[in-house]
Amino acid sequence: MTEQKKLQLVNIALKKKFKDKNLVFGYGAIDARIVFVGEAPGAAEEREGKPITGQSEKLLNQLLRSIGVDRKKVYLTNVLKYQMSATKAPTSKEVKSHVPFLKEEIKTVGPQIVVTLGNMALNGVGLRQPLDNIHGHVINFGHYELLPTFHPDKALNDPLVKILLQTDFLKLKELLKIKPAIS
Ligand code: URA
Repeated sequence: MTEQKKLQLVNIALKKKFKDKNLVFGYGAIDARIVFVGEAPGAAEEREGKPITGQSEKLLNQLLRSIGVDRKKVYLTNVLKYQMSATKAPTSKEVKSHVPFLKEEIKTVGPQIVVTLGNMALNGVGLRQPLDNIHGHVINFGHYELLPTFHPDKALNDPLVKILLQTDFLKLKELLKIKPAIS
């Protein structure tokens, strides 16, 4: 079965489980070396049908360009595939209900590196540690290296977070050099 077909099956399973929701699936290169995991789509992502749009997307693209990574060669997804409530954060049960789908999605793309954007994304891949302590650290996750960092959304309003995010992307650049591309 092709990776494309496998991803379709993951998305079909998501649709079955979250029937009443407007879902935004992962997007990008199916053979990506890097998968970025965000938190949950917002209204703009729902409209555009892809994760991380608007100013956050601009910043992410800028960061990728700064380390010489082609945006078209990465894969982007979220832990939650539907919009969070504007008034209450998702419960850990809600986050957990998405984890098996996220894991399958990552396994299908088979990246060398997963970059989590924000705390929920970090929890979504299974690490319950404060992001402030471990951002920019490379953690071996068996099939891939995990590099946790901040969400670009947060960096838009906080110059310090933006600097930390930029520094973490330099780590990503180094990591890409250490891990040669598998062709
Ligand atoms: N939009 C997304 O798709 N993901 C986020 O984490 C935030 C905004």
